[in-house]
Parts: sequence; structure tokens; C-alpha cells
Amino acid sequence: MALYQRTAIEQKGYGMIAKTAISPGRLILVEEPLFSLPSVLFSREVLAQAKHPESTLNTIIATAVKALPKDKQVVFLELHNSKTRPGVFLGIWQTNAFGLGSDNDDLGIFELASRFNHSCFPNAVHSWNYNTKKMEIHATKAIPEGTEITMSYLSFEEIIQPCAMRRTMLQGRYGFTCSCHACASPGNAKSIAHRTELAMLDGELARGNFSLGMNAARPMKNLRRMLELFPLEGLEGELGRVYNDAFQLCIGSGDQARASAFMELCVKTRCFYLGTGLKDDARNRELVRRPQSHHTFQALGNKWGTKLSMKKKEGSVGFDEWLWERAEK
Ligand SMILES: [Zn+2]
Repeated sequence: MALYQRTAIEQKGYGMIAKTAISPGRLILVEEPLFSLPSVLFSREVLAQAKHPESTLNTIIATAVKALPKDKQVVFLELHNSKTRPGVFLGIWQTNAFGLGSDNDDLGIFELASRFNHSCFPNAVHSWNYNTKKMEIHATKAIPEGTEITMSYLSFEEIIQPCAMRRTMLQGRYGFTCSCHACASPGNAKSIAHRTELAMLDGELARGNFSLGMNAARPMKNLRRMLELFPLEGLEGELGRVYNDAFQLCIGSGDQARASAFMELCVKTRCFYLGTGLKDDARNRELVRRPQSHHTFQALGNKWGTKLSMKKKEGSVGFDEWLWERAEK
């Protein structure tokens, strides 16, 4: 039995409503794409060579749609088109395509997954299962019966921006004004403060200070704070990213024990919120066992050097203090 039902929602058109109470981590949807196309087709470099990039893309997508069985063509054409420009195939594609996994992978169109509305404070998250080649949607929070199930349409870098920037992006790309929990008052001011801080913390990390051999204790402090902020902003699906970054800092500084502990938390958190079919899942499990096999082992020196045998068990007395001992106080 499906856990959701497509229902008319005031001022939003349609949305997916929970038909039953859904617990965090629960698998809500598994779906294979109607069709997919390589993301390289949509790259700037390829489009720069086309005389009329938009009509070229429209033709590529139309060709893919026309190769589908008739009933699936109808499904595609019934999906929402937020674009007003001519080129209905491209418009539907741009409104509904999902990236299939990380890096430079394919983009795909889904009949059901496309019907979940966006929220900047979502209660579900989508992920791509590399083993089954299917999209999965998992709950990130307890979703009471009758509540709308939502997920984020924005990338990580976009979703951590304050409300005004997110709204501009969503308006431009999808043609709606977001009025989710994080965008609407009165919760708005707190959310703006949290996301301004998140964007600042992430910006410091992204500038790669630590990779230049600077003090890794500072980015560790940032990550610890991000771990507190993500759940406050409904971004539990991003927690694995924090643990993965902490792994990188630890293994780069020779701390095998903490690197292994952080990667173990990364794998556990990602499995819970994103499923077990992620592209790097097997490799990450190997890094829990042998963190020193990572190519950046001791790249920042060995000033935090520990052996794997010094690893503390999650949940043991003093685990949290031990885990974050390297973070700047
Ligand atoms: Zn919003």
C-alpha cells in the first residue's frame, strides 16, 4: 500500500499527503525513471556548440519521449511545466528532472517523485540507488497522517542560503514563491539566522583552508556547529556530509581512530536517511575498517596521529567528547 496519496492542496495545486503516520528513515517511494539522459548533454560546453541550444535540447528530449510507450508519453506530458517559453518538452524536463546521484551522472524524469512538492524545511529526502537504478524517497522526520510529504529541490549549497536567496532561485527555476515553514513568518527570523550561519560555516570549509595545511581544529569546530544546525533547519539528510568532512580532516592529520569513528557515523546516518544503495557506500564501509587506505592519509602531517586500536565505541562513556576533541574550543 502506498504511504501517500495525491491530493489537492490550497494555493499549491496538488501535493503528496501521508495516508498513515510515517516514522523517520522509513522508505516512502521506490521508482525507476520514465527515462534518463546523460547530464553532459546539458553542460555549457556542449550547448555552446549548438546554434539554438534550447530548440536542440527540446528536440533531444522530444525524441526520448517519443521512444516511450504511448501511456508513458501521456504521463510525461501531464507533468507540470513551470516555463512559459516555447519548447514544452524542455519546459517539462527543466521543471521535473532529478540528478541521479552525485558527480556527473545522468538526469531522469519520474512520474511519482516529481509530484512531491518542495520545502526548504522538508520531511523527506530523495536519493539514487546505484544498485537497483531506482529513485528512493525516505522520511527524515516523523510525518503525521494527513501531513504533506515534501523534499528539497535545491542543491546543498542553495538550501543553506537564507530565505530571500532561496525564494529567488525557486521562483526563477520553478515559478513559485516558497511559503514553507522556513520561508514563512514567524519562524522566519530564526531560520534566516541559522542559515546565514550555515552558509558562513560552509563557506569557510569550502575555501579549503584546511587542505593548505592550516589549523584543522577550526573547520572541525565548524562541522560540530553544523551538526547542531542541520536538524534545527530540517536538513537531516545532510548530516552524513558533516561526518564525511570530519573524516577527511582527521585522516589528513593522521587520526585513524577518529577518522574511522566519523566514517562509521557517516555510513550509518546516510543509510538511515538515504538508503543503502549510494554510490560510495561500499568504499565508505571499507574506510571504516581501513581509514589509512584513503588517499589523503597524513596529507596534512601526523600531528593528530592515532592508531585504529584507540577508537572509542559509539555510545560509550565520554564518546562525544573524545570524538570532537580535535575541534577548536
Ligand atoms: Zn521555503
